[in-house]
Amino acid sequence: MRCSHPGKGLRMMNIRVLKCSSCGKISSIPAYFCKSCRSEKLEETEVPGEGTIYTYSIVHVPLATHEKEAPYTVAIVELEGGCKITGRILETSSDKLSVGASVEVTEIKDGVYLFKLSN
Ligand SMILES: [Zn+2]
Repeated sequence: MRCSHPGKGLRMMNIRVLKCSSCGKISSIPAYFCKSCRSEKLEETEVPGEGTIYTYSIVHVPLATHEKEAPYTVAIVELEGGCKITGRILETSSDKLSVGASVEVTEIKDGVYLFKLSN
């Protein structure tokens, strides 16, 4: 793996993804075949847990099971390699919260990726 951020990244979490053995395209889990070339030769790998916000929305009226957590931000984050995964952004009212903003994973809670805005 290349190291693009010297001095950063020590506590960076990785995200488990599937990589296509035929064309190298990255997919989020679960996937049963490559969306790019339809190959079924997918192998699990990890990519750095950082990316940019592809789209997001702030949930003010959540499902009853998430009532105490509202408001919260649900986002689709585009990772290195173009793979998109759904997660939550910890910030709900930051000026920096926008499409294209850089985020990084801070923890994985109940199978949900929690991102924070990176500086
Ligand atoms: Zn492929």
